[in-house]
Amino acid sequence: MLSKLGKVPDEVRAVMENSELDAFRCSHVRYRPAWELLWGNISKGSVCVAGDALHPMVPDIGQGGCAALEDGVVLARCLGEALLKNKKQEIKGKGEEGKEEYKRIEMGLNKYARERKWRCIDLTFTAYAVSFIQESEGKIMAFLRNKFFSPILARLLFKKADFDCGKLRSP
Ligand SMILES: Cc1cc2nc3c(=O)[nH]c(=O)nc-3n(C[C@H](O)[C@H](O)[C@H](O)COP(=O)(O)OP(=O)(O)OC[C@H]3O[C@@H](n4cnc5c(N)ncnc54)[C@H](O)[C@@H]3O)c2cc1C
Repeated sequence: MLSKLGKVPDEVRAVMENSELDAFRCSHVRYRPAWELLWGNISKGSVCVAGDALHPMVPDIGQGGCAALEDGVVLARCLGEALLKNKKQEIKGKGEEGKEEYKRIEMGLNKYARERKWRCIDLTFTAYAVSFIQESEGKIMAFLRNKFFSPILARLLFKKADFDCGKLRSP
């Protein structure tokens, strides 16, 4: 890898040089089809999935890690809103308080799941379609790709990266 790095800043080269070979673990690239996201659970009770556990996708649009960051912000916002909104309606008894908090967390996670579902379907499907177009062989496909798809794909990449996660409120 070091021999193929070319001209990169010293800091980047240092990351490679200081990485131990036994720190790498290889595993298969995973993909979750859109219908699994459509029908599957993103949250259940007080548990939810985020990042690659939620939306493993092919790397062709470079959005897997970005989407994981989006998950984090949306999750924090949904949990924060659920906990703040219901603060005034707190039930007095001690045992009831725990149940109420659990319900609030569940509500927040349900909202997170609703908000993320279509965004994740959109990203995983787009990544798959882009990978299909980019990796297909044959003269006709190469012609279509070079003539028509290239500018569309470039615009699409920027469009998909532009996502508003909403504002995080402080208590
Ligand atoms: C070739 C390639 C290129 C990519 N390019 C881009 C790009 O340009 N832009 C982009 O946004 N994304 C890109 N991605 C995707 C991005 O790397 C991932 O989507 C992102 O790292 C997912 O983050 P995550 O936190 O969900 O999972 P991970 O980063 O995989 O983190 C999971 C962590 O959990 C740890 N773990 C696993 N099992 C256990 C366990 N049992 N106990 C404790 N810890 C455990 C792992 O060691 C790991 O540290 C690319 C991916 C690949 C493969």
